[in-house]
Amino acid sequence: MTPAKIDALKTELTKEIDKNQKFSQEMVDMIFSFGELGFQEVETSKYLTDILKKNGFTIEYGISGVPTAWTAKWGSGKPVIAVGSDIDCIPKASQKPGVAYHDPIVAGAPGHGEGHNSGQPLNVTAVLALKKVMEREKIPGTIMLWPGVAEEQLATKAYYVRDGYFKDVDACIFTHVGNNLGTSYGDGGMVGMISVRYDFEGQASHAGGAPWRGKSALDAVELMNIGWNYHREHMEPTQRSHYVITDGGDQPNVVPSKASVWYYFRERSYPKIMQMFEDGKRIAEAAAKMTKTTMKYEVLGSAWPGHMNQPIAEAMYENIKMVGLPKWSEEDQKLAKALQKEMQSPTEPGKGFDGLSTSLSQLRKPATTPSAGGGGSDDIADISWNIPTIVLNYPSNIPGLPGHHWANAIAMATPIAHKGVTAGAKAEALTLLDMFVKPEILKNAWTYFNDVQTKDTKYTPLISKTDKPAIHLNKKIMEEFRPEMKKYYYDPSKYATYLEQLGIKYPTVREDKAGTTTGGGN
Ligand SMILES: [Zn+2]
Repeated sequence: MTPAKIDALKTELTKEIDKNQKFSQEMVDMIFSFGELGFQEVETSKYLTDILKKNGFTIEYGISGVPTAWTAKWGSGKPVIAVGSDIDCIPKASQKPGVAYHDPIVAGAPGHGEGHNSGQPLNVTAVLALKKVMEREKIPGTIMLWPGVAEEQLATKAYYVRDGYFKDVDACIFTHVGNNLGTSYGDGGMVGMISVRYDFEGQASHAGGAPWRGKSALDAVELMNIGWNYHREHMEPTQRSHYVITDGGDQPNVVPSKASVWYYFRERSYPKIMQMFEDGKRIAEAAAKMTKTTMKYEVLGSAWPGHMNQPIAEAMYENIKMVGLPKWSEEDQKLAKALQKEMQSPTEPGKGFDGLSTSLSQLRKPATTPSAGGGGSDDIADISWNIPTIVLNYPSNIPGLPGHHWANAIAMATPIAHKGVTAGAKAEALTLLDMFVKPEILKNAWTYFNDVQTKDTKYTPLISKTDKPAIHLNKKIMEEFRPEMKKYYYDPSKYATYLEQLGIKYPTVREDKAGTTTGGGN
């Protein structure tokens, strides 16, 4: 295909995606309103697969034994390019969109405080536009859409890889919400992780009447945590480890016969993560010994530290420059600045709260310091060590927020999210077109993968052959909140936007009156 022809097709794709803004907005708002936690993304997965099926995709449901996971394929032959994004949300992050202070839709309920409601709408918009062009121009190749289920638990992607779903795939583009349009390559300095729940079992007794007959599983949990926290002093500064007690007993007058603690162990390399896993096991066993209890553990999730592909990232960045950032309205900036003020978002000294990004980020190069990527992990890394992969970030959220928080949900069903998705869909569709019609991109991607990325580091899964996805997670929480949340599912047949359905004036911000603040925050 000639460069002039490719340019013409790119112009066509851009126009088509602009034309489909209403469709993108409906998908973003709909998934926002579902607000489903990891492994419980029932409505979200049904909604997305129904759209894809209607558009000629072949769906395989329940991949890797995960009821809410799937692949959707269209096209034929090589190359096969996978396009993915996460779909789960955050506990206790329910929040009205467009309101710049804490105001939940359903108090205590989960919500999209990580913005995972936007990535699949971006992907669907991009691939449907591209499909039209590929059909007409008879461009060979296969597109495979897939969801990151339970990404917050880092709990599915290593299983997809282990179970062969990426075996015949040539490359992967993943999308993740951010506050700028950008991508990166190499080792970004992120940590990998293994997530383990330790279950202790002792013996119940009357805590007042016969405490000497009890063996406290809660004592074991507390001693394990004390042991780990002393051990922390002797660990390298690149590690991150944190825990929650998921079961601490029922009531004080019953010696807890059962108690559980759930750990995330994070480090910069596979051997270091495995060392933390071993240390955790040893300390848990010691705690069981001290308390005459027994201990079992279950691996609930894992992720490698990521490494993204240079040739694909460079191809993507060329398209990002063509697309550019969305044009923010005064209302968009007003919401962003008010929220940054509300959260006292960290900002550079003297810069103030400067709102949404207005200059495009640079192509991010590999990390030069040991923990440049901060302390987060993403199991897209497991895909990235098996096929050339990149992550496209798109500007659907507000800079400077804490992450995994209700504040991160505020922009996610507003024009900010909608415009960010449209910009991201363009960058993705243009890059996919390049990958299908310029064979040298995939050839160079594999050369980088084989000769640079995996030259000295070989992928060994953190999960075993027998570990199973922890599909029981979050079941109870969703059962508790879903009936109330259902009342607020988005109805696009009645309302143009979700903001309209909720009766929210955009933006709603606290008004300063004579130095005091008013408004309904809590
Ligand atoms: Zn995420």
